[in-house]
Amino acid sequence: LAKRVQGTEKNVWVDISKLAVEQNSINLGQGFPDFMAPHDIVNCLKDTVNSDSPAVHQYARSFGHPRLVKALAELYEPFLGRQIDPMTEILISVGAYGALFCVIQGLVNPGDEVIIIEPFFDCYQPMVKAAGGTPVFVPLRPTKDGSVTSSADWKLDEGELSSKFNSKTKLIIVNTPNNPLGKVFTREELLVIANLCKKHDVVCVADEVYEWMTYNGNQHIKIATLPDMWERTVTIGSAGKTFSVTGWKIGWTVGPQHLVNCAQIMHQNCTYNCPTPIQEAVARGLELEKSRLGSPGSYLISLAASLKPKRDKLASVLEEVGMKPVIPEGGYFMMADYTSMEADVPESDEAKDFRFSKWMTINKKLTVIPPSAFYCKEHEHMAENYVRFCFIKEDSTLEKAANVLRHWK
Ligand code: PMP
Ligand code: GLN
Repeated sequence: LAKRVQGTEKNVWVDISKLAVEQNSINLGQGFPDFMAPHDIVNCLKDTVNSDSPAVHQYARSFGHPRLVKALAELYEPFLGRQIDPMTEILISVGAYGALFCVIQGLVNPGDEVIIIEPFFDCYQPMVKAAGGTPVFVPLRPTKDGSVTSSADWKLDEGELSSKFNSKTKLIIVNTPNNPLGKVFTREELLVIANLCKKHDVVCVADEVYEWMTYNGNQHIKIATLPDMWERTVTIGSAGKTFSVTGWKIGWTVGPQHLVNCAQIMHQNCTYNCPTPIQEAVARGLELEKSRLGSPGSYLISLAASLKPKRDKLASVLEEVGMKPVIPEGGYFMMADYTSMEADVPESDEAKDFRFSKWMTINKKLTVIPPSAFYCKEHEHMAENYVRFCFIKEDSTLEKAANVLRHWK
């Protein structure tokens, strides 16, 4: 095994998803819907395939199918408050994973430091290491205690955050709405980060794959729109998350040419391009969304509205059984403190939340994700009393999970 990937052999999605399949459990683990994808987007793919266009089955333009990058530019222009050049300021990748990979590989030199906010989407750490960079971690800390708390109660300590910036810092990765917490960073919080980026000449990687999913009026703020941040921010999105089609694996990076081009250079010698029919279908879906944005038919708006009752149902069940949920302001995951549940968890050298999650899959046939996977080794203990539930599931699936929790003994 090559040195640059040594130490990254274990992967929480590979392990827990395999166990869930083996145990045929109720799967509230990996984040994907268990219901049919929206008809409109599926029809976009059907229409694409039925269009009899020879080109749609052949290689796409390397940096993104023209119709898709144009649709993205048009969708995002009003949200970014500027014109976007679809050819030079956007890159299409294999999922947001591909976007993160090309951005990190394209921008990080050996010895550079990358600030990662905990809990973080787990691939950031191995990707930074594979680029020769040094991940520097700064945790969000819960500021309240109680049976029910909010992701808004998890905050960065400003002094601690600023102490992590220095002349070696190249990037900071900011994931809002955050996976796994569901925290939606406020304008004030993002301003603190933005000011540090400007002071230390640091690029911000804004992972915004859950941008359309916020609840209770919490507004998703794009850090790229804060003063003088466009020039130093790349924003990453995902068709899989936007349209509830996680199997389509199309992601994008939007930002100034001088940064996006670094990712494009990586991409052109890596996967080179992405599947044309899927890009064409996503383009058609975005055009449709653009035409009905703000109207009740908008999927991007109705998605959050349909997720909110699922979030509330899961939270009330968790509270009822004595787990302490952290109510997410956005995204489709919920962390909960499981320690009041009686469990005969075997001893091993794995983290406690891993042992509990595996035990629950095997013994209760309910799968969740152990969130210490979202922390560096030194900070794993911060997550050991929590598990992460995914709630973009059929109501009947959530009900089955509720039954397991209610009839625990
Ligand atoms: N970033 C975050 C925060 C995620 O939760 C995910 C998982 N969807 C990704 C990136 C990767 O997205 P994709 O499935 O589009 O590769
Ligand atoms: N982002 C999703 C999650 O957090 C899926 C992760 C994955 O596919 N590796 O569950």
